[in-house]
Amino acid sequence: MTAADRKLLESFRKALAAQKLSLVYQPKVSLKDGHLGRVEALVRWDDPELGPISPSRFVPLAEEHGLIDPLTEWGLRTTLRQWRIWRDQGLETRLAFNISAVSLQRLDFPDLVERMCRALDVPTDRLVLELTEGATQPLVRLMDTLTRFRIKGMGLAIDDFGTGYSSLMQLRQLPFTEVKIDRCFVKDLPAAHDSRLIVKTITELAHGLGLIATAEGVETVEQLRSVRELGCDVVQGYLIAPPLHPDELIAWNSDFARRWPTLLSDESLEL
Ligand code: C2E
Ligand code: MG
Ligand code: MG
Ligand code: MG
Repeated sequence: MTAADRKLLESFRKALAAQKLSLVYQPKVSLKDGHLGRVEALVRWDDPELGPISPSRFVPLAEEHGLIDPLTEWGLRTTLRQWRIWRDQGLETRLAFNISAVSLQRLDFPDLVERMCRALDVPTDRLVLELTEGATQPLVRLMDTLTRFRIKGMGLAIDDFGTGYSSLMQLRQLPFTEVKIDRCFVKDLPAAHDSRLIVKTITELAHGLGLIATAEGVETVEQLRSVRELGCDVVQGYLIAPPLHPDELIAWNSDFARRWPTLLSDESLEL
């Protein structure tokens, strides 16, 4: 472990203990009608000394050094509380929450998540867990844990699909409800023929297996139109909304309802 990593880890440990982390929420909308289907919680850490640090940097560090469980529990509790605030303000949405593969090794994890939902009075079917693919443990074991989640009513999304290994095997055998197509396949749409083919194929595969196909990382109107034509159901990305502060969501939602038709308005010209 480098000196820089050690310092980062110690600062992170303190930030977590002092609840100095925060969550932002990125909308996911239906490609059929632009409706807000769910919001994905994303953790943020802005250290007074080190500045903002990406979760891609500190989540793996937390995983390696035994801090992922407290991070997950804090994040989930905060997200579930936020759901109730939005509900009380009249916004009914579902939550997407990223779960580390390390947490899935705990056999009691599905029970823990269910208890937290109960305690905070959030129906379990309002929660979708996003898992990044990766062969971290025997498939039978993962199958067991994921099935427990499904029985309890939570949805399961496979995140960043297409970038890991053994993904087709996982998709076939595990009880997922949604596939999130990695943004590297969306980036070069609509021009790149290979990307179009990949997005179309993953979408057809998802539909064939009865799953929702979500395109992530949509940044341009051209990409939006392309993923829609290719059959995706749900879209997420900076074009729709960046990750938002929780207080911004309701205003964003009513504004987006006005923006949505204009995003697709001259589509007919392309036909
Ligand atoms: P992810 O779950 O695949 O989340 C998507 C990432 O892409 C987020 O980065 C988001 O801010 C970013 N993004 C969204 N739309 C666009 C776009 O249009 N263009 C581009 N270039 N990027 C976009 P973020 O927030 O830095 O998170 C990175 C990763 O860290 C996440 O990937 C997720 O795997 C992990 N992560 C974030 N929050 C948590 C958490 O609370 N718990 C766990 N275990 N992991 C988390
Ligand atoms: Mg995710
Ligand atoms: Mg992703
Ligand atoms: Mg990711």
